[in-house]
Amino acid sequence: TILMNHDDIHNHPIQVADIDWQDAAPLSPRFGDVYYSRDNGIEETNHVFLLQNRLHERWQQNTTDRFTIAETGFGTGLNFFCAATLWYCSPMQNKHLHFISVEKFPLSLTDMTFSCAKHPQFDWISASLVEQYPAPVAGSHRLFFAEHNITLTLLYGDAVDCMRELDGCVDAWFLDGFAPSKNPEMWNQALYDSMAKLSHSDTTLSTFTAAGEVKRGLRRAGFQVERCPGYGRKRHILRGRFGQSPGKPTTAPAEQKPWFQFRYTPQTARRIAVIGAGLAGSSVARKMAERGWDVTILEAESEIASQGSGNPTGITFTKLSIHNTPQNRYYQSAYLYACRYIRSLFMHHQVAEGDDWSLQGVLRLAYDDKERDIQQQLIAARFWPQELMVGLSPEDIYHQFGIVSPVSGILLKGGGWLNPRQLCDTLLSHKNISLVTDSRVTGLQQSDTGWSIETEGQSTQNRTPSPASYEAVVLANAFGCQQFQLNGYFDLRAVRGQISYLPATEESRVLPVPLNYEGYVNPARNGFHSVGATFNPKLDDPQERVQDHKWNCDQLQNTVPDLARQLNLQPADTLRGRVGFRCQTPDYLPLVGPVADAQAFQQQYRQLGKGFLKREFPVAPNLPGLYISTGHGSRGITSTCFAAEILAGYLCGEPQIIDRSVLHAIHPARFLIRKIIRRQL
Ligand code: SAM
Repeated sequence: TILMNHDDIHNHPIQVADIDWQDAAPLSPRFGDVYYSRDNGIEETNHVFLLQNRLHERWQQNTTDRFTIAETGFGTGLNFFCAATLWYCSPMQNKHLHFISVEKFPLSLTDMTFSCAKHPQFDWISASLVEQYPAPVAGSHRLFFAEHNITLTLLYGDAVDCMRELDGCVDAWFLDGFAPSKNPEMWNQALYDSMAKLSHSDTTLSTFTAAGEVKRGLRRAGFQVERCPGYGRKRHILRGRFGQSPGKPTTAPAEQKPWFQFRYTPQTARRIAVIGAGLAGSSVARKMAERGWDVTILEAESEIASQGSGNPTGITFTKLSIHNTPQNRYYQSAYLYACRYIRSLFMHHQVAEGDDWSLQGVLRLAYDDKERDIQQQLIAARFWPQELMVGLSPEDIYHQFGIVSPVSGILLKGGGWLNPRQLCDTLLSHKNISLVTDSRVTGLQQSDTGWSIETEGQSTQNRTPSPASYEAVVLANAFGCQQFQLNGYFDLRAVRGQISYLPATEESRVLPVPLNYEGYVNPARNGFHSVGATFNPKLDDPQERVQDHKWNCDQLQNTVPDLARQLNLQPADTLRGRVGFRCQTPDYLPLVGPVADAQAFQQQYRQLGKGFLKREFPVAPNLPGLYISTGHGSRGITSTCFAAEILAGYLCGEPQIIDRSVLHAIHPARFLIRKIIRRQL
């Protein structure tokens, strides 16, 4: 068996499944096996997966807040639909079901729609699945069935790679994924070992196969496995539990990077304070409110979204790259997440597409040779499927958007522009959220019961009584997090950016999508186009500068002269705009996750600086209940909603939406641990 390095996970475009529908059950010509029993797929699922994992019995007990199932091979989703149905009919239906399923060859949307139509009894959930069904892009895709308290995380990629990188805790395993004789690559020891790391002493498993090699492999990983009667023509199948057998490990092997390890402790009162009502804070507030927490969001200014999130328009966008780095994985996943999440949020709140948002795509122009080469590579590699990314020639651009462009480009579909304040406002429209403006946080005190917050306000208007103590606090106040004397290891820099407001003309008003090049120009809102943006780490001048307006206009003029002509550019010294300071980390990734007690952290890991890398180290000394989301730089709209989902994962002990290497890459303690290793502290 050849194992791919996990760094390869996202390098290969995902191929959709080829399915032969002629039989009673769909057949995969690639594997020469059926997706489910020809006799009765649903009964088979009930027998093999639901019954052997004792789901009915366990869900009757209704003793936990959530339950997590992980599956190898999502296929047509039949197992998911059956498990969801059982959940829906159980006393657990008010709790939360996480279903994680890995799939290397997802069904096309057409096949999925066709397959769902064959099982109308699942329409109640399958209709929404089809509506949210992700395009075949490697990585993680999260689908929400909020009204049923079910979350489905689809991991597109190889089971072995994806499970190795999964961060979470699984209660029951469904090992599906074609017969071991037809698909030997998937059934291997690395998969079983990863399963063990994700299991606890009550974790169960079942599979439709009784192959000896599978049984032995699972046992080697620490599962107790037994044969039991199969369904239909299958005489035997396997079921098991983690641990239990004498001499076998019941806890998973230690985390390789304990300084990033997080131990979840359940909270009962569920009160949280979020500091900062920009995009980072508003999105966290929303995610926690949706999970039933009582949220107080504190904003120093008199208005929400007034600082870094204060531009009139911004875009959901990411620069694509075929290089598979954690940074690219973070931004690409965040981008795909943001496009879907923001659209559904606005639709849910009936904020009509048009005045304040429009997700009709973003056109990235090949403004220089390097960018043209990157775009050609992406197109040649079919990096993303047509429903997400298309290459456009200058002629295509003219026909689609009426813009004369001297260069070609790539249209990112699903992305677009929006007014950040409208987004924050919509995120905060939730009954569990209390917003307190004019409230500057001056201190944080940790106590036995959680955190208390000292504030200083100019006015008491809007003030709602806030509880003295919160179980959790999220710092989402950009640079402001540095004031709390958490030993100053949040390596944040201010990068000055200036945008220019160009009055829209009859001709320019019809520009439907943001154009992105070295700078950008957004569609008109309230009669103005925002054109930007300069990038100046060395400057702290809060005043608008004429040369910066000129730079913005020059970029536009050089890339799309026809649009510049339509806009009838005026001298730079007559222009108005806005200066903002992006909150940026040195590695251009945000800080998202738990906050460590920096002193204890240094103490605990200082041996690392002496080269004791192989030694066993204790788990990170995190400050209980303290989290951060900042450093989103100029990518706030793209990054913050995804970051909020990650933080909610930490706060609620849920399986994480993104792979572990990415969680480490955005971990707030990364700069501190690097400094310790390099002996800079
Ligand atoms: N549970 C599915 C259902 O309800 O339709 C049936 C799954 S079917 C028997 C097996 C699935 O595993 C297929 O969709 C196949 O593409 C997927 N698969 C096969 N090898 C895989 C691998 N190495 N990693 C991830 N998925 C794989």
